[in-house]
Order: sequence, then structure tokens, then C-alpha cells
Amino acid sequence: MLIQLTEDCTHEELEKITALAEKAGFKTSKVDTHNASYIICSGKGEFDPRRIGTLKGVKDVHMVEDENKLVSRLWRVNDTELDLGDGAVISRDNLTVAMGPCSIESEEQVQKTVDFLLKNQVKIMRGGIFKPRSSPYSFRGMGIGGLEIFARHCREKGIKIVSEVMQVSQIEPMYDLVDIFQVGTRNAQNFNLLDALGKTDKPVLLKRGMSSTINEFLASAEYIFSSGNERIILCERGIRTFEKAYRNTLDLNAIPLLKEKSHLPVFCDPSHGVGVRRFVEPMALASVMAGADGLLMEIGEVPEKATSDAQQTLSFEEARQALFKMNKTFELKKELSFKFLSE
Ligand code: PEP
Ligand code: MN
Repeated sequence: MLIQLTEDCTHEELEKITALAEKAGFKTSKVDTHNASYIICSGKGEFDPRRIGTLKGVKDVHMVEDENKLVSRLWRVNDTELDLGDGAVISRDNLTVAMGPCSIESEEQVQKTVDFLLKNQVKIMRGGIFKPRSSPYSFRGMGIGGLEIFARHCREKGIKIVSEVMQVSQIEPMYDLVDIFQVGTRNAQNFNLLDALGKTDKPVLLKRGMSSTINEFLASAEYIFSSGNERIILCERGIRTFEKAYRNTLDLNAIPLLKEKSHLPVFCDPSHGVGVRRFVEPMALASVMAGADGLLMEIGEVPEKATSDAQQTLSFEEARQALFKMNKTFELKKELSFKFLSE
């Protein structure tokens, strides 16, 4: 059960509501986000929700059987929309695309990427400045200096920035320079980091852990929400399986399932998902058809020369063609679902 409190709910009213829920056998947790306050009732209680619904201080009561209640669609039936400003709105009505290099490497690279994005109406640029690398001897990112260059060029042109944060201490220096904090697959269950991001008011793009089940993935999102931040994007990026023919197994099944189970926007990252340049576009198109609200893709002027993830980076020309096809696919998907619904 999930109880939404009124804005003016007093301490006494809160105590009454909590006492009643606990008496009925529930374990209660109070959650305050930037938008609202809730009481999460977990466990099994014997209860007629109408008894609590009439109490002062209660706005609404929802019977949410799901384990991860705040991110569940069982109480919030409409999709969560995120307005990033400058016309960048993440919503089911339009396909959001974030493109850029795996790693920020130089000012020239940022400048050229921004030019490409502007020319092609892409509103969000991706780029890592703290890089989680499998080998400690690989390039590990330019750090905050790189993010300053990244931000200088993007801010000027109204392009939004998504970049990975790897640890709690990086949140503060990154805060003013990013529009979306990215949590990478390796940190998807770093609960301290998720809690800390829950205390900020910036959107968080949460990658699926490479071995996370759907429930574990949603639980990670629940951590962020229950710490106070409702602005979350789920991102499928492939999971580890026995298959070695490509980098990861992009779990397209996850997309419609997450859309059904959660009200949060769902993105797909076909670049890391398949990890092979020539398969990135087809997997992007498939993910649009599967219902993704947005895509995260690695691109570069000379992909072969990228310091990290060269093998999955699209050239600007490949990215331009992929964008054209992704937008067409999105329109087709909308048309098909509209026709289906009106029949
Ligand atoms: C990335 O997007 O730069 C990245 C490292 O992705 P992942 O965490 O999904 O491997
Ligand atoms: Mn990468």
C-alpha cells in the first residue's frame, strides 16, 4: 500500500495515519521527495483502505502489490515526463535521443559533436569524464576539467548534458555542469550512490546492472525515488549471458515489460547493448518499436580513433542515417498503435 499525504499534513495527522497502518500489520516508511510526501506500507496487513482514505492528511491511498512501489505504474498510471528545459522534454510523445562520444577527449571533439547535434536536432549530448574501465591502465577520463569544456560548449547552444557519476564525492563538483547524472551498469547497485543521487533534484539516467534482474533494476530506481528524487530514466544496456558473439545481450524484452511495470521513461543504449558498430542501428530501430522513449548512442567524427569503445561508435554519417530511420520508425509505431486502438 502507498499513502500519498496532503501538502499540509501535520505531525499529529501523520502519527495517526502511521499508527493505524502499523496496527493493521504493515511496516511503514515515510518518504519525502521534491514533489510530495508518501507513506510506504510494506508487508501484509489486514485492512480496508477506505478506513485510511478518510483520515485528515491523506490525499490518496493506492493498493500497490509490487515490491517496488514508488516506481510502479499501479499507482501512477500516466508516464512520468521530464522537462530538461530548452525544448528537451522526455515524454512518450516524442523520441528523445542522446548522442556523443564514449569519453570526452578534447575541446575540438566536443565542438564538432555539438555542431553535429545542432544540425540534426539532437538535444542531449552524452560523454563520459569519469570512465569505469575494465583495466586500470586504460584511459579513465578527463575528469572535471573535461566536463567544464563539455559544459561550456553545450550551455552556449542549449544542448543538454548527460555524464556518468561514479562516486558520491563527484556529485557536488558535477552538479552545476550536467543536466542528467548517469549511473553506469557497474554502479547500478551502489546503494550509497543511489541514495545520494536521490537527494539531488537532477534527473538520473540509471543503467541496468549487467546482471540485474528486472526487479533488481526497479529496486535500484526505487532507492533514488525513496531518497527524494522522482526524476529517473531507466536505461536498458544489455546483460551478461553465456553468449560471447557480441559484447552484451541487449534485452529488448525488458523495454515493454518496464513500460508496463513502471511509469518512468525507458531508454535503450544499443551501443553498449550489442557493442558492434554495424548492429547498433538495427538494434536502435528494434528498441524504438519495442517502446523505448529514448536512445543513448555513441558517435564520433572518426570512430576508429575513439579512445574508448571505438568498435561500437557510429560515424557522424552513420548517426545521421540512424536518426532518420529512428524518427521514421517512431512515427510508424505511433501510427500503428493509433490505428490498432481506433479499430
Ligand atoms: C557509458 O555509457 O559510457 C557506459 C560506461 O555504459 P555502461 O555503464 O552501460 O557500460
Ligand atoms: Mn562506452
